[in-house]
Amino acid sequence: MSDSSFRKLSTKAIHAGEPQPRLEGSVAMPIFQSAMFEYMGEKSYHDLKYIRLNNTPNHRVLHQKLAELENAEAGLVTASGMAAISTSMLALLNQGDHLLIQGTLYGGTHDFVTKDLPRWGIHYDFIDPTQPEDWEAKRRPETRAIYVETMGNPLLGVPHLPQVASFARSHGLVSMIDNTFASPVNFRPLEHGFDLSMHSGTKYLNGHSDIVAGAVLGSASLIEKITHALNHLGGSIDPHAAFLLHRGVKTLAVRMRQHNESAGQLARFLESHDAVAKVNYPGLESHPQHAWAKEWFDGFSGMLSFELGGGLPAAERLFERLRIPLKAPSLGGVESLVTRPAITSHAGMSAEDRHALGITDGLVRVSVGIEDPQELVEDFEQALG
Ligand code: PLP
Repeated sequence: MSDSSFRKLSTKAIHAGEPQPRLEGSVAMPIFQSAMFEYMGEKSYHDLKYIRLNNTPNHRVLHQKLAELENAEAGLVTASGMAAISTSMLALLNQGDHLLIQGTLYGGTHDFVTKDLPRWGIHYDFIDPTQPEDWEAKRRPETRAIYVETMGNPLLGVPHLPQVASFARSHGLVSMIDNTFASPVNFRPLEHGFDLSMHSGTKYLNGHSDIVAGAVLGSASLIEKITHALNHLGGSIDPHAAFLLHRGVKTLAVRMRQHNESAGQLARFLESHDAVAKVNYPGLESHPQHAWAKEWFDGFSGMLSFELGGGLPAAERLFERLRIPLKAPSLGGVESLVTRPAITSHAGMSAEDRHALGITDGLVRVSVGIEDPQELVEDFEQALG
């Protein structure tokens, strides 16, 4: 469909996957708002063009564009990040199989793995993603996959990423990574040996907080299996959301540069403030995996979390006083957001599980937007004062 000779990510975000020649000369990809398409002699049911079969023109351009951003052979867009994650797991794991998965995770994934997978006879063990000995100790003959997040939500820990991929390869496991927090701009997992990279497209890929979407990127054979499962499970993106995701992706590179820069400034300010007890941001030298992050990432992203010395009451006061960030869940949009993971993204976990992982009730997570960074820092300064 398209010319895949573009070399740089910011060029690919705009030009990769686009129809050649452009449809009726249209510079923007039109929305094909049609549930089904006329039969054109296709041989199998999965080749008929139908929105749920994930193969309309709006799906196909995004598959190629997103695959090229991470130098993957193939890509698949989905109705949400959770559709990407759950469908990939269900496509690749069978009854009796075992999964190794990091403990500090996005709450929806944690809930799916701990509450849903066991109902289908799929078992799991939580691992410390920084400690390869722990993975080896928990590996079983029936282990089939290992799953990590590029930066754990919400504490921003960084796994030993290349070693996760090589561990998987040496034991015949599928290595899966949720790359939502980093975005393809900051980290491209397949270049480090991962088999499958997943995204909540709701976040940085779209960047404007106006749709829910997801994506999976990997080899053609794995993506074919996952597409087959998605065709049946039905978590398919609709053409209008696909159009908005497509539009958002075009500005991904320039948005991420600003998210990286602004989050770095805010993290350094917070770390220097007396009221702040601890800042979690991989770009800070104090972060336990800073050296790894510096080696593997092209930027440290726009996500950070921190603890105030005054705990939960101080966090509540801060929320009342902040003027620029919205108090809302989710992340990755142009506007800054603040949340308390204990009552939003990780509310599905028991309080004991949260506390065991270090997610305190007063922990504040910030999705740093692309407002003026100095004005944002000043807002935190007045709110902390
Ligand atoms: N992965 C991460 C890291 C997330 O933060 C989220 C949502 O917050 C998801 C996956 C799920 O994405 P969605 O809400 O698009 O299903």
